[in-house]
Amino acid sequence: MKITNIESFVLKSKLDKPFFFSQWSYSERSICLVKITTDEGFVGWGEGYGPATIIDEGIKFLKPLIIGKDPIENETIWYEMYRKTLDFARRGVLMASVSALDIAIWDLKGKILDLPVYKMLGGKHRDRVQPYATGLYFSKSKSLSDELVIEAKNYLNDGFKAIKMKVGLSLEEDIHNLKCVREAIGDEIKLMVDANHAYSLREALELSRLMEPYKISWFEEPISPEFYTQYRELREKTSIPIAAGECEYLRFGFHQLLENRSVDILQLDIGACGGITESKRIASLAATYGVEVIPHTWGSGISFNVALHFIANLEPMPGRLYNPDFYMEYDRTENPIRESITSPSIKFENGFINIPSEPGLGLKVNENIILKYQEK
Ligand code: MG
Repeated sequence: MKITNIESFVLKSKLDKPFFFSQWSYSERSICLVKITTDEGFVGWGEGYGPATIIDEGIKFLKPLIIGKDPIENETIWYEMYRKTLDFARRGVLMASVSALDIAIWDLKGKILDLPVYKMLGGKHRDRVQPYATGLYFSKSKSLSDELVIEAKNYLNDGFKAIKMKVGLSLEEDIHNLKCVREAIGDEIKLMVDANHAYSLREALELSRLMEPYKISWFEEPISPEFYTQYRELREKTSIPIAAGECEYLRFGFHQLLENRSVDILQLDIGACGGITESKRIASLAATYGVEVIPHTWGSGISFNVALHFIANLEPMPGRLYNPDFYMEYDRTENPIRESITSPSIKFENGFINIPSEPGLGLKVNENIILKYQEK
């Protein structure tokens, strides 16, 4: 069987209410999808994480390397893309294009072999994952902390047992917002904070000390992703677990985070770091260092299902009779594209989401709805 066509789609949607975090604001959401078709009519879908229009250009650049290839041989296709872009794309957005294509090939292969992705990865260690709500971004509101409390309570009403909020405005504002949210949700709910690398080591250390009384499950991207040894220094000086990895690429990049003992939790983004093929290798590498993996997940139902299959396959580490639930990021910010283009819709019941069992990624993409969001 041969791959005969590759099409990419940039989808955009304006937001009713812009929101921001420590680095920039969102007034629209955009995603890049890719569709791969074979000579026998099989179709696979993928999605990259990063600037959609640039990922789209990257896919067009990589297309000639893939046309004519057998989708069952996904690792050799991955290697071809990697070698041909190595000189100028060991990090960054072209790797997101590689990732999107790799994901589409896994979906395609699963449909051809009539197997869900988790089975092709080697099987599932769990039937369900526990999503945590990603939200609690900033707004220009004068009563931001009141808004955050209302939003956090809504997540509890939806059934979430874990919530992640943004920090990175200033140490004073962060602590005020954190105190308000923690008091509102009580001590039983897991609460994580994400600075999106807004702080220097000195500031991150000070914030960590201020946050310690508030039972924080992890401090995500406290400092710039380049400062591997500063991460380590922070880890050694705080009791709060440190998480990072959404700005890292390939097993070689993640090796830096691991070898420097920079993190307690590794947050690879499957749609950016090298796709499912490379993410499986990064998870094996993390296991050799005894570091937990909880993927960064952002985008449409395609990225969501990719993470479901991947997390299903992650080994419990260390294994024990009663293994803890595995967490999965579930973005709850406004994004009309997120769930409307794929079916079945995400079913969040009693605090958990089940692993899909249909072939490939286990979803259908509605191309009529894609046209609605596509740039003209
Ligand atoms: Mg983050």
